Amino acid sequence: MSCDADVSLDGWLADLARPGTVRPVRTAPDPVLARAGADVDPTDPAVLRLAADLVATMRVSPGCVGLAAPQIGESARVFAVDVTGHPKTVTSHGTFVLCNATVVSATRLRPGREGCMSVPDLTGDVKRASRVVVEGVLPGTGATVRLTTDGFEARALQHEIDHCAGLLFLDQVAGAHALYQRKVYL
Ligand SMILES: [Zn+2]
Repeated sequence: MSCDADVSLDGWLADLARPGTVRPVRTAPDPVLARAGADVDPTDPAVLRLAADLVATMRVSPGCVGLAAPQIGESARVFAVDVTGHPKTVTSHGTFVLCNATVVSATRLRPGREGCMSVPDLTGDVKRASRVVVEGVLPGTGATVRLTTDGFEARALQHEIDHCAGLLFLDQVAGAHALYQRKVYL
């Protein structure tokens, strides 16, 4: 685990202008989920408000380890992740929001089960890299960070970066045989 930029993720949430507002989560086939998000200016106050809303909405949603802007109706390349305390978590960087994030390197493809608040009735097996390096920009300061992570947090990052490109996990499963009806909503 490392964050080899000159900024720490610790405490950056204090930069958010105000507590976020919990917003309704869009579900498939809402067209905003299929649209590639636009690049944002991470220092724009509107992006800070969006970041705060993503964190607030993620936090009130049981079992939610990540949420991307298209899921609350904003076609923008911004997402929140927090895998803290999840039983599958290996490495965790806590709660963070990244803007305009890209996967810099991805290795060791592994299958794993995924769910999504925008696809409430299904889970699916998706192959993802189990080690990634992701680069993105923090809302507010505009500082660029490079995160190296693995396992469940790596999966969550790839899932959210996909949302920002207009992709759902349904687009990444091998086929209908890799989809499962959810018995309990988590
Ligand atoms: Zn999702």
